[in-house]
Amino acid sequence: MPLHDIKQRVSAALAEAGRAPDDVTLIAVSKVQPADRVEAVLREGHRVFGENRVQEAQGRWPAFQARYDGIELHLIGPLQTNKARAAVEMFDAIHTVDRPKLARTLARLAQERGQSPEVFLQVNTGEEPQKAGCLPADVDAFVAELRALDLPLRGLMCIPPVEEEASLHFALLAKMAERNGLSGLSMGMSADFEKAISFGATHVRVGSAIFGERVPQA
Ligand SMILES: *Cc1c(COP(=O)(O)O)cnc(C)c1O
Repeated sequence: MPLHDIKQRVSAALAEAGRAPDDVTLIAVSKVQPADRVEAVLREGHRVFGENRVQEAQGRWPAFQARYDGIELHLIGPLQTNKARAAVEMFDAIHTVDRPKLARTLARLAQERGQSPEVFLQVNTGEEPQKAGCLPADVDAFVAELRALDLPLRGLMCIPPVEEEASLHFALLAKMAERNGLSGLSMGMSADFEKAISFGATHVRVGSAIFGERVPQA
């Protein structure tokens, strides 16, 4: 579906929810997509993209950044501590901060550099053993720790379990954000971004609906 149509659906969902027209950042998730598809979206004027791997982003984005101004990159995949330095150099926002060790490393790098990407605390709302994210019971303490570390905490992020009703997870995440005084909510993907917007999403991460099915990696 063309970018234009996705933007219209985002606007319609915002209007339906009685929210301001610019209340949501549409992150075009370009992971694993061929460069020509990414470039087509850049040519349409879009500048906010999401990648799930540091290395893949390092491989493709510097060339685009040399040719297009104002690109904003969001890391939406798991971050290993040993890639933290590369990540803070590359990304404007990191959506997957989910453990104190990573947070401390990011805080140290932020102090060294005198700047930091915005961070989102990833919550494993479905408490799935195989999934990354801080458990719901640990969220309040972790928020306090991130604040004590002076990291620019923008909000919370979740990826609901595939087999469950996403609304329950969006509502839970919104509640945890509210009680912690956080306004940012990174939630909603191709299949459910309108629903996420109705629950207060401020950042939706939309991949296949914009770019088409992901081409499997070799
Ligand atoms: C791949 C991915 C997306 C985008 O998924 P689509 O269903 O293609 O929109 C969003 N969020 C995360 C964390 C992802 O890994």
